[in-house]
Amino acid sequence: MLRADVIHKPADLRARANLVDYDRARREFSWQQARDALSGLPGGAGLNIAYEAVDRHAAGPRAGVTALRWLDRTGGVREISYRELGELTGRFANVLTGLGVRPGERVYTLLGRVPDLYVAVLGTLKARCVLSPLFSAFGPEPVAERMHLGEAAVLVTTPALYRRTIAPIRDRLPALRHVLLTGPAATGLPGTANLSDLSGAASPAFTVGPTDPQDAALLHFTSGTTGRPKGALHVHEAVVAHHATARFALDLRTDDVFWCTADPGWVTGTSYGIVAPLVIGATMLSDEGEFDARRWYRVLAEQRVTVWYTAPTAVRMLMRRGPEEAARHDLSALRLVASVGEPLNPEAVRWGAEVLGRPVHDNWWQTETGAIMISNFAAADIRPGSMGRPLPGIDAGLLERGPDGRALVDADGGVHPLAGAAEGELALRAGWPSMFRGYLNDPERYAAAFADGWYLTGDIARRDSDGWYWFVGRADDVIKSAGHLVGPFEVESALMAHPAVAEAGVIGMPDPVAGELVKAFVTLRAGIEPTEELRTELLGFGRRALGAVAPKEIAFDDALPHTRSGKVMRRLLKARELGLAEGDLSTLEVTR
Ligand code: AMP
Repeated sequence: MLRADVIHKPADLRARANLVDYDRARREFSWQQARDALSGLPGGAGLNIAYEAVDRHAAGPRAGVTALRWLDRTGGVREISYRELGELTGRFANVLTGLGVRPGERVYTLLGRVPDLYVAVLGTLKARCVLSPLFSAFGPEPVAERMHLGEAAVLVTTPALYRRTIAPIRDRLPALRHVLLTGPAATGLPGTANLSDLSGAASPAFTVGPTDPQDAALLHFTSGTTGRPKGALHVHEAVVAHHATARFALDLRTDDVFWCTADPGWVTGTSYGIVAPLVIGATMLSDEGEFDARRWYRVLAEQRVTVWYTAPTAVRMLMRRGPEEAARHDLSALRLVASVGEPLNPEAVRWGAEVLGRPVHDNWWQTETGAIMISNFAAADIRPGSMGRPLPGIDAGLLERGPDGRALVDADGGVHPLAGAAEGELALRAGWPSMFRGYLNDPERYAAAFADGWYLTGDIARRDSDGWYWFVGRADDVIKSAGHLVGPFEVESALMAHPAVAEAGVIGMPDPVAGELVKAFVTLRAGIEPTEELRTELLGFGRRALGAVAPKEIAFDDALPHTRSGKVMRRLLKARELGLAEGDLSTLEVTR
């Protein structure tokens, strides 16, 4: 039956998809099958992400295929084949080994989208070190916090980022043994080494050592509402899910030109901006430039991008430019457009169908899940506004919520899964390969994320009677701004380091483009006047400390709502600001 609120797919497109029959795939799929589709290290020596992404292609018939096509800011193009990527990452792994960096030690990157970043990420994994990518727009505070928590042994960055972000905090990082600088002028800074000199002297040949699929590979930081950022640890086995989900949810194939616009400093930019397309053997595109509507359309058209994975904020920014800009470009190569990270409005899905010639396929996952869990599929109709259905191999559920808004967990540890059409906390049956294996140094927090065999996501979702999932809101106070998760506590702490600030409450305010904007409410110390100058100073203070996650607005407020124990009640603050009852907040999130 044809439904007006559904976007139907043409039969020819359905027939060509990787996942033609969703129900059958859900019945027949097993993670063992997905594991068998990968090579594994020669001689049964285990499973290593970088071997699957690079070395097996570099040693096979795809050696000459372009692995990375990189566009620099000025329009220059650099193509790196799988063979060359094998050599470059081999050199990087040899540099690490030569410096005495041991498997399991943490290597951090603080880099924009440049070839050295991709080489460092994959070379680190080859050397069996743990990779932690940092967002290069972070200010010194979030970087110091994350490098300290993860005991960074090595950092790869540029001279400019070193001066701006690392030099002011270097004395807070005693575990940091090596800073490797890339790019021009990468010499002369005390306590650093020049990466290209080291790489030039190293051998391109590197044999990946035995890697247990359960060995730690990636450390991604994510934000909660209280305390420090959480370091979610992922293992090499995650590559099984990267590969399978890239095939199912992104419909990726070897002949695709794939563009993931997420920055590699965030989980999407690593799992799908680096690992997934390479494991598939496709060509991945990386654009050093920042968002610009005309530039993006040009990239899509000129590079003949076939699969595009982006974010709702970006789609909304393109929508604002109107359809004329899109019409000037030949987007006929596009086969699939997908987005993740924030709610995708139904209008944006339909706009894609009309203006890009392809509807936007929403999908859902989070740092902890390591890979896409719920998705719209190339061969399936789309219900605009729905995140889609669970992937083959993923068992999703909704759990009844308790008075605190989170899943109700009985004294004996039991939970209450809801049947049929329902709304509750979104939960996933534990055990898929890319599930995080721990929060760094915080086993209690990790244990608290599970109940009765379910991983509790912290998101509230609704399921319709056909099993499609719809995002409702977060069960906590974390902020999603332009697709980036921002921990209010981290922002509050940074502001409270200013001598004029007694207390701060930070919330996300609805924004038509970015989803939410970070806004801080600040109580000043006694006797300090709330002037415009002070507001400007605090905004600058926040920006210098936090970088891209700093508050965009600051209001003075000496009546912040508190719990009895004295904590700022952010939900109440938000409800107050929006003129809503607290219970109406989730309604706001759906209709936003
Ligand atoms: P992160 O761990 O930074 O990737 O953020 C994960 C969070 O982003 C999820 O828990 C959701 O709150 C939100 N999110 C991710 N994908 C979607 C989506 N498709 N729709 C709505 N929210 C999403």
